[in-house]
Amino acid sequence: MKDRYDHFIHGQWTAPAEGKYFERISPVTEQPLTAIAEGSASDIDRAVQDAQAAYRSWSRLPVETRADHMRAVAAALREQADSLAEIQARETGKALSRSANDVRLTARYFDYYASLAHSLGGETIVGDPSLHTFTVRAPYGVCGNIVPWNSPLQQAARGIAPALIAGNTTVVKPSEETPFSCLELARIAAEAGLPPGVLNVVPGYGRVAGAALVSHPLVRKVTFTGSVATGRSVGAIAAERIIPLSLELGGKSPNLIFEDADLPAAIDAAYAAIMGNAGQICSAGSRLLVQRSVHDQVVRGLIDIAGRERVGDTMAGATMGPLTTRDQYERVKQYLEIARQEGATIACGGGRPQGGPTTGWFIAPTILTNVNRAMRVAQEEIFGPVLSVIPFDSEQEAIDIANDTEYGLAAAVWTRDVGRAHRVSAALEAGQVYVNNYHGGSVETPFGGFKNSGYGREKGAEALAHYTQIKTVIMKVT
Ligand code: NAD
Repeated sequence: MKDRYDHFIHGQWTAPAEGKYFERISPVTEQPLTAIAEGSASDIDRAVQDAQAAYRSWSRLPVETRADHMRAVAAALREQADSLAEIQARETGKALSRSANDVRLTARYFDYYASLAHSLGGETIVGDPSLHTFTVRAPYGVCGNIVPWNSPLQQAARGIAPALIAGNTTVVKPSEETPFSCLELARIAAEAGLPPGVLNVVPGYGRVAGAALVSHPLVRKVTFTGSVATGRSVGAIAAERIIPLSLELGGKSPNLIFEDADLPAAIDAAYAAIMGNAGQICSAGSRLLVQRSVHDQVVRGLIDIAGRERVGDTMAGATMGPLTTRDQYERVKQYLEIARQEGATIACGGGRPQGGPTTGWFIAPTILTNVNRAMRVAQEEIFGPVLSVIPFDSEQEAIDIANDTEYGLAAAVWTRDVGRAHRVSAALEAGQVYVNNYHGGSVETPFGGFKNSGYGREKGAEALAHYTQIKTVIMKVT
């Protein structure tokens, strides 16, 4: 990690126009990590103008040349994987092994979209024989990419890579909480030969730098990953400007365990689905719906696993890290208070880990039972290591509870009955449904929300549709 981070524009470190920096605090020690440039509207303008200039040549390169550049970025990311993983682990507090996996995924996004280079063709349309009619997929120009703090590297990469292969250039505004790994990604890409201006990164606060990016007249498409509330305000600007927007928002994803499931596997996966990354995953399985006959057995199994978790500094061997931001830590504590007031039972956890670290934003893995579907802890995204367990009796009741929130990002069903697996996965209102696994998807599986979890899709070939616009050419030939 550098002592101080500037913006990364035109392939080089660039000081902020207003000369302002702010400090990012470590979620583990609560001491300053390092200083970071505070992006202003003029920094955003500079980055976007530069990306617009780069767009002219980048979009005209043979697609295979763009793919070569992206493969070079992937290779460079793998070469510097250890230091990059460490920087992301320090800024987020997440386990180094998890951070290393994020770096692998980040590299895979560049490789995967490079491999789709030749799928960017259009079609020939049959009609009037005197006309030769075909479609091409045209890029938009400069894309804006606004990223949250929970997995900053791969969340940035899944917007950057499809944008670039399609011929767009991109300006990323990382979260003010976790900007370092994303800036390092841009540096590594530039050193790997990505032409200047193709990928610019401007850190700063959302309401200033983020809003300026969405509002900039040269930004022709925006990808936003974050909370529903911010997504709404970004959406209002995009609607006013008539630019396309992909919104990847929050979730309260249901994980359904039926009595005929492979229970040991379901219990292990249910625990990991919510406690992984200390619950800071948009598609975390934060509502566990369990058939009443196996409810107590499942809860006992979860409490057992929670008892083996070591919460603390993951650099010093702990298995679960802190909440990444102070605000998030305070928010999770508030929800634990709400759970108590609502009459839920705190089966384990419920606050800071006993005998754990004295500094840092740590919460013990928490399992709430006696939760009913109407409670706030069953309806609202907590975004921490807190699982709400709700019993059900019938398949229909499970589906009704599962669909009874404003969200629709992910869902899972555990059963050995193939018919039930099909019926339930068809009925679940979610953009990604897992059967007898949780989080089984990867870079090639389309991902995004139903309902208030957003629209548009990232990952997979599907994402290319969101970074290209169809142009139909109708040519008189006789
Ligand atoms: P957030 O909405 O507070 O911030 C997200 C990003 O938006 C940050 O970069 C922030 O600086 C920026 N921002 C804030 N105000 C802005 C404004 N007015 N205009 C433009 N940009 C602005 O979200 P967060 O707290 O960083 O992230 C947590 C949320 O993200 C959770 O709700 C989580 O579910 C969601 N999330 C969703 C996905 C997904 O793929 N669906 C993935 C990860 C996180």
